[in-house]
Amino acid sequence: MARSYVREARRPVGRRRERIGPIVERLEREHPDAAIALRSRSELELLVAVMLSAQTTDVNVNRVTERLFVKYRRPEDYLAVPVEELERDIYQTGFYRQKAKSIRGAMRVLLEEYDGRVPRRLEQLVRLPGVARKTANVVAAELGDPQGIVVDTHVRRLSQRLGLTRHDDPVKIEQDLVRLVPREKWGIFPHLLIWHGRRVCLARSPRCEECVLADLCPASRVERGERQRGVRATRRPPSSS
Ligand code: SF4
Repeated sequence: MARSYVREARRPVGRRRERIGPIVERLEREHPDAAIALRSRSELELLVAVMLSAQTTDVNVNRVTERLFVKYRRPEDYLAVPVEELERDIYQTGFYRQKAKSIRGAMRVLLEEYDGRVPRRLEQLVRLPGVARKTANVVAAELGDPQGIVVDTHVRRLSQRLGLTRHDDPVKIEQDLVRLVPREKWGIFPHLLIWHGRRVCLARSPRCEECVLADLCPASRVERGERQRGVRATRRPPSSS
């Protein structure tokens, strides 16, 4: 089980319904460049890139797809080569056997049921082999029709620290978030938390003294008076006694 950050949210900072608006607003100002880091130029490339991104970094996927998407342009292309060839072409993303099998299975369903196009509904996407709820949520959101909120490791950690959920299970966290976050922000919200999580709210040592959410965050490590004055935290010298 991944580490839980629920207990870090201890300070009284007000109701989450009242905090969510300013949290989104400030994060949008702070990270105007927040967006998916996976590169794709079509719905099909998006689907394949997201499927390849399991258990690896976006940088790694982009490196592989740069060549992959020149060779494989249509669903048929993934089925036209022996599976071993596709495995070799995606080898560097890890779990290449399972991923190749899933991609080919998904391509088959696209051709048989959707005329080679990527469906938009979550319930259709999760029926594609190898497409779990998180992948489906990412694809639907990037296609402009978010039907849920993506919960990855950053979204989980920040939601817990910000006191937006008391749950550890991603499905329950998503349920809390969709009740709280305005519908028109479902697509951008995970990107904001992911970028804030990478730049400021780091897993091991969050930079609370630099964080624009310090006064809204029940897990902030900045002293209360300093948060209210918006002053940067200063380290106290160790006590001499
Ligand atoms: S970095 Fe910001 S969001 Fe993270 S714990 Fe500190 S104050 Fe909260």
